[in-house]
Amino acid sequence: MTSFSELGIGKNLCEAAARMGWTEPTPIQAAAIPVGITGRDVLAQAQTGTGKTGAFAFTVLARTRPGPGVPTVLVLSPTRELADQVSHEMYALSKETRHRVVAIYGGAPYSDQMRRLSAGCDIVVGTPGRVIDMCEREVLDLSGITELVIDEADRMLDMGFTEEVRTIVGMLPSERQTLMFSATFSDEVREVAEGWMDSPEEVSISPECPASDLVEQSYVIVERNRKYEVLRHIVSKNDPKTLVFCATKKMVDDLASRMSEDGLRVGSIHGDMPQSRREKTIRAYRNDRMAILVATDVAARGLDIDNIECVVNYDTPTDPETYTHRIGRAGRAGKRGFAVSFVTPREDRRVQMYEDYTGVRIAKINPKKIAGMDFSSPEVKEYHEGKVRMIQEARDARDAERAAKAKGRPVQPQRAEGVYEQISLNAGKSDGVSRNDITEFLTNKVGVPREAIGRIGLGKRTSFVEVSSEYVEKVLRDAERRRLGPVGVHAIRAPEKVKMKDRV
Ligand code: AMP
Repeated sequence: MTSFSELGIGKNLCEAAARMGWTEPTPIQAAAIPVGITGRDVLAQAQTGTGKTGAFAFTVLARTRPGPGVPTVLVLSPTRELADQVSHEMYALSKETRHRVVAIYGGAPYSDQMRRLSAGCDIVVGTPGRVIDMCEREVLDLSGITELVIDEADRMLDMGFTEEVRTIVGMLPSERQTLMFSATFSDEVREVAEGWMDSPEEVSISPECPASDLVEQSYVIVERNRKYEVLRHIVSKNDPKTLVFCATKKMVDDLASRMSEDGLRVGSIHGDMPQSRREKTIRAYRNDRMAILVATDVAARGLDIDNIECVVNYDTPTDPETYTHRIGRAGRAGKRGFAVSFVTPREDRRVQMYEDYTGVRIAKINPKKIAGMDFSSPEVKEYHEGKVRMIQEARDARDAERAAKAKGRPVQPQRAEGVYEQISLNAGKSDGVSRNDITEFLTNKVGVPREAIGRIGLGKRTSFVEVSSEYVEKVLRDAERRRLGPVGVHAIRAPEKVKMKDRV
């Protein structure tokens, strides 16, 4: 394990880490800091909860000296909550180096932020709109920026900030270092990265170390009109610190008032609330003055609270990325957490989709069992420990397989004869990809033994591959986003109706 002193960040910052109680770098810090510190552009894949803020904070703090009169570091955040949290963490980390940090974001009065900018600072953390605004008001001078950090780039693009960021990038000196952090590497992220960065080194920790591993995931099949009942059972006993996600602002309002009428200590946040009220609620939640927070995705973005025990997907999200983001709110900074998703009978396919994406099996809980179930009870603990063991066993098997391979021993797939499943890959003839390329990709890059690959049906842009059952999870997980010809692979279980015409 790397120590902070081996990262090349200097004595002051090692002291800062120690003062924060951080004994060793997180994987993304160990991977990104040594590259960033050399001045190279870095495109890093990391989710919230992995220590990504520390990764870019240490890099830029080590590379700049405080006090030149104009800011040298600009950090762009998609939301005001995230800007606020990032600025607090950077402030905390710069006690020894004495960099001055200012946060600027919309929804808060100009006067205070303008006063701070005018007083002089080294690091500006801001949302794109307010950064442009402050430049137009001539209180922010970007001519001295040598370090640009684009945090949660995928969210930034999703939220429609591409043009604003482009404008800001256009105002910066071209001689600078750019660090971009994103939970996912979509084509769009790669495209903007190409335009805004100079041959960035890609750093990724997610395939080996997803944040969601620390969260014990479960789901309940429940009709819409019975969700509240189930939720009441989860939160009624012992009040686990719970974050509840709803799909819309109105649902957040309705659910929070219902819970509050029931006498629960609950707060709510969504995008229509004034910033001051949101901040007050988040503070109260952080300080344990309330046990339950009901939120929309946007409002909960970047919420940096370490001791959330339980995430409830009161409404399940349609895409697995949002799911992963949400459950990653629990199980932070090395602590275990649990997540329960309320899935209506019509939505049950989503569970498979989440499993495919996270590579972790999600345990089904009987709603009748949840009734009266106390999540910190020995019964539940035992249940979750069982599940964690299951995940651990799968991982051990994978490690054993890798170790065997490293020693050059052939790995015997212990497969039931002839049990194949079909996987669909987003690459085909039009991408110049052949069957051989697919076989090579699966054997060399994903690590599937040749004999575990069955027939391959080559399509124009989509191909279907038969893979021996016990390697299916591996392919879904390890093939993801790896290069196959010109495409970044996305592998899913093939829909059943697909027919295999072509044979290898
Ligand atoms: P982030 O991914 O930046 O949202 O960080 C998640 C949490 O992990 C934050 O509360 C950090 O304070 C904490 N953290 C960051 N780096 C470390 C570290 N090396 N050791 C322990 N905790 C850390």
